[in-house]
Amino acid sequence: MKRHAFSAAAFSGALLGAALFSTPAVADSRFITIGTGGQVGVYYVVGQSVCRMINRGSDEHNIRCNAPSTGGSVANVNGMKAGELDMGVVQSDVQYRAYHGEANFASDGPWEEMRAVFTMHGEPLTVVARADSGIEHFSDFPGKRVNVGNPGSGQRNTMNVVMDAMGWDMDTFSLASQLDAAEQAAALSDNNIDAMIYVVGHPNGSIQEATTTIDARLIPVTGPEIDALVEEYPYYTRSVIPGGLYRGNDQDTETFGVAATFVSSTAVDEDVIYETVKAVFENFERFKRLHPAFENLNEEDMISDGLTAPLHDGAARYYRERGWIE
Ligand code: GLU
Repeated sequence: MKRHAFSAAAFSGALLGAALFSTPAVADSRFITIGTGGQVGVYYVVGQSVCRMINRGSDEHNIRCNAPSTGGSVANVNGMKAGELDMGVVQSDVQYRAYHGEANFASDGPWEEMRAVFTMHGEPLTVVARADSGIEHFSDFPGKRVNVGNPGSGQRNTMNVVMDAMGWDMDTFSLASQLDAAEQAAALSDNNIDAMIYVVGHPNGSIQEATTTIDARLIPVTGPEIDALVEEYPYYTRSVIPGGLYRGNDQDTETFGVAATFVSSTAVDEDVIYETVKAVFENFERFKRLHPAFENLNEEDMISDGLTAPLHDGAARYYRERGWIE
């Protein structure tokens, strides 16, 4: 009896102790989610890499990060608006349209709560066609089987603009499929489509898969309509995919492109974004080694290029501390 009473007391004491020691940590733990893209692209690695840097310091700041695969830029914007995602990787053209409420975001109106955090790698509009497709140039698309991309993706968003500029619609193609990023290389290899489109950093697993399983070519995206887009929109630039990255593609490929940007919203705490950018920039050399597309990143461009929305207060605080901004 006595013994029983003693162990009960010890047991409740242990519970109390556990409660005393664990409650503050549990209460303070913040779980954040970063929206990425398909697992074959670079956004997925961006999200995983940022999380890796954050999670290295979880003992200190108690922030725990995960970065699931998503449908891409537009899905990430919608996920952040709905409060399901805290941050996301978004093409610079999609950032612009979402912030200003243009094109496919017109019905939502401007998303004034959007906040920029930093810019990542460049993303050329990348067209890959089967060598037997008869496609030598982007303008050969009419009558072909083209994967225009899933509606949540950035490439679909950019493709809509390009199609408008070219005077094309879905009926221009003999087939306009809407496969997501992870499915298109296999569809190309299986001869279900003639060409795939991906707005993506290089090198990446998807284009690698497409060019190693079959003979496939990177296709130039140039011409007066593209020149006009680059003239008209601040977020489009001429871009070259260097030769030698993929089997059978030793020549440079001319196209145009955007930048991958990392964004959040005013709904996310200043401290969370502060710790996020601090984790990235204090482990920057380590971070850059996590993907070849990150190799040429530098701090100065990352906090100025390709950003439409105002900087998040947490990011601005850190950049000010480093003396990078006023
Ligand atoms: N740019 C693509 C998109 O916005 C994703 C590219 C990637 O996953 O690296 O959907």
